[in-house]
Amino acid sequence: MSDAIFSRLAIVGIGLIGSSIARAARQNGLVDEIAIADLSPVILERAEELGLGDSYHASAGDAAESADLVIACVPVGAAEAVAKAIAPHLKPGAIVSDVGSVKGSVVRQMRPHLPDNVQFIPAHPVAGTEYSGPDAGFAELFVNRWSILCPDEATDVRALDRLVAFWAGMGANVECMSAERHDLVLAITSHLPHLIAYNIVGTAADLEKVTESEVMKFSAGGFRDFTRIAASDPTMWRDVFLHNRDAVLEVLGRFQEDLFALQRQIRWGEGDKLYDLFTRTRTIRRGILTLGQDAPEADFGRAHRPVPKAPSE
Ligand code: NAP
Repeated sequence: MSDAIFSRLAIVGIGLIGSSIARAARQNGLVDEIAIADLSPVILERAEELGLGDSYHASAGDAAESADLVIACVPVGAAEAVAKAIAPHLKPGAIVSDVGSVKGSVVRQMRPHLPDNVQFIPAHPVAGTEYSGPDAGFAELFVNRWSILCPDEATDVRALDRLVAFWAGMGANVECMSAERHDLVLAITSHLPHLIAYNIVGTAADLEKVTESEVMKFSAGGFRDFTRIAASDPTMWRDVFLHNRDAVLEVLGRFQEDLFALQRQIRWGEGDKLYDLFTRTRTIRRGILTLGQDAPEADFGRAHRPVPKAPSE
């Protein structure tokens, strides 16, 4: 008998996150069978070449047929389309979940279309990279990263336990919170930083007094760390901002106020205030390292090449 938590897993959308789940679920023996669906025939073909699943489907409904767990791994704006497509095919008692970076909107888009005899438990693994597509995924993506689940009062405890075990089996730490709380927390920890990165890289690109080659050449001064975030998938992030509008606007308002305060402190030479803030922010970085959420190596662990030796005479 297999020790798998789910017999058939259906993954709808086999990009970075979907393919990472497929790899991690397989590697850790969490499922017996993986059915994969994707809108794009090219991506589906690539998933098959990579051997990510056991069956490949152009229709999300076909993949969801007789699945015990269906996970929508699509951009947040496509959540409703997936719910509509899978709903008539779901078997009673199946668990439906997702991985979207926004939760309130996903609940509003999916819940009305799902039958009452399935368990809908939204999820968000707080793990990712700036790359997209099935080649970008890897089995270790979720190891020691948080996965947030958003059950509600109606969620069956046994279904929740199975989904928690599934994420824990892929190496994730699991925390439960409401969809509203999730959206506010992620607005400050993820969505705002992405917006700042997109903005700062855009500003640099528009600066007329500094040439583009100078921006590239001297990027190690801090700019390049923003460019990694600003290289994230445009469709995904457009959807995040449109679907978490209220929480993002709320934290953006706070951010703008604080930015004005900083502007004032610089203008009036209030070095002590700047120093105090920079000391507090350093503590936050140290807290993240203590919690094991980043590597402690200097400069994000980038390899620094030794200075080349002068040619011997
Ligand atoms: P991705 O690499 O772009 O993959 C998404 C895949 O879903 C694409 O192959 C896309 O096909 C397909 N798709 C779109 N609509 C579909 C539909 N209606 N039915 C079936 N397939 C569909 O994206 P990702 O980075 O894995 O992100 C997926 C989700 O995970 C997003 O909701 C995102 O918010 C969340 N997330 C992402 C990260 C991250 O760092 N990337 C981290 C945590 C959570 P096309 O390309 O043809 O549209």
